[in-house]
Amino acid sequence: MRLSRFFMPILKENPKEAEIVSHRLMLRTGMIRQQSQGIYSWLPLGKRVLDKVNAIIREEQNRAGAIELSMPTLQSAELWQESGRYEDYGKEMLRIRDRQDRPMLYGPTNEEMITDIFRSSVKSYKSLPLNLYHIQLKFRDEIRPRFGTMRSREFLMKDAYSFDLTQADAIHSYNKMFVAYLRTFDRLGLRAIPMRADTGPIGGNHSHEFIILADTGESEVFCHKSFVDFDIPAVDTDFDSVEGLQATFDKWTSVYAATSEMHDAAAFDSIGEGERLSARGIEVGHIFYFGTKYSEPMGAKVQGPDGKEHLVHMGSYGIGPTRLVPAIIEASHDENGIIWPASVAPFDAVVINMKAGDQACDSTCERLYAALQNAGKDVLYDDTDDRAGTKFATADLIGVPVQVIAGPRAVAAGEVELKDRKTGARETLTIEAAINKLTA
Ligand code: ATP
Ligand code: MG
Repeated sequence: MRLSRFFMPILKENPKEAEIVSHRLMLRTGMIRQQSQGIYSWLPLGKRVLDKVNAIIREEQNRAGAIELSMPTLQSAELWQESGRYEDYGKEMLRIRDRQDRPMLYGPTNEEMITDIFRSSVKSYKSLPLNLYHIQLKFRDEIRPRFGTMRSREFLMKDAYSFDLTQADAIHSYNKMFVAYLRTFDRLGLRAIPMRADTGPIGGNHSHEFIILADTGESEVFCHKSFVDFDIPAVDTDFDSVEGLQATFDKWTSVYAATSEMHDAAAFDSIGEGERLSARGIEVGHIFYFGTKYSEPMGAKVQGPDGKEHLVHMGSYGIGPTRLVPAIIEASHDENGIIWPASVAPFDAVVINMKAGDQACDSTCERLYAALQNAGKDVLYDDTDDRAGTKFATADLIGVPVQVIAGPRAVAAGEVELKDRKTGARETLTIEAAINKLTA
């Protein structure tokens, strides 16, 4: 992408409305734009990051055996009347009427709809286990939308829904998502800690919020420090191994971690001084086993091996991609701007032409740009006629992991400079060596 032809409306000043650093940086870099309260456009730079986050989420969902579909944003109120949630949901639900005056709503979540899809076609336990997911916009008319896309009214959610014959099977499905989440957040460059969450009237040990620690987080959290050293399940994890996944779950839930709603002060205080952590956190995911809460009122049953009808056991599993993007920024930035983990960076590298119009600089940059693109890299080429200082500041601000700097003096010697955005380390290499290094 040539910066001269890209759309990246950088702001010079810090926007006054932004209270936290991620919101500030997302506005300054032109990643997002608020269209009305809590409703955002994702501009091209932001969209590139969001797409990469979604791709990682998708890969890990698929690896764990979940299957992607797509459900609509608008739902009929009827389904929600069946489950009993239409009245309960309150003002967070955006209710709409169509031209025939039928009550509709903009979905805040999809348990009802997926249960309806399930009951319309699945009749036998032989089709189980089943886990269906989509990545789709949701709307919740939050009382206090704030912090940009961290808490917005319209937001993206990956929501998965599992169906099983028995509670034991459902726990295995739960563990699959638990492991998939550990892998997902790790690949996004985050250390997310699963914390016991309130399961409401259903009870049990099977609801976890995945929380990343950040000073600007909205939740108050308490945990053991040892989470920092726990191993992330490997890429070749066998998701069919009931014992294997249970062992991972047991390990990750063996030490204390709770949000304030579930906090047990006595248990926390029994952890040695220096071993415990009381901090603030951002909820980036939430998984939940809820048994027959929806299958019962909505009549989602399958025939079991005994020939009888059984209500299916369900769980739901959410991740918020449009919250994850600012969460990643909260966890990874410095005074000059964003520092993207390579896995979600909007570009792998930025080629900075320090003297656009100078023939040697131009041709070197064109060569680098072409070589990196041909190797399948996402490259931003700053071919504008801005001053070098402005270009450096922009490159730092937007946080691309590697800067390839081509200035007249280096280019005359057949060289360019590489700068690592995270460490600031610089090295001078021949153009050939730079290309080899960046395409290796
Ligand atoms: P919160 O406690 O932050 O209000 P929630 O418990 O209502 O969230 P869930 O219903 O568990 O959220 O939704 C699953 C995921 O969707 C959350 O973990 C979060 O990542 C994301 N999410 C929920 N609400 C919002 C929102 N208003 N803006 C952005 N992302 C959200
Ligand atoms: Mg939650």
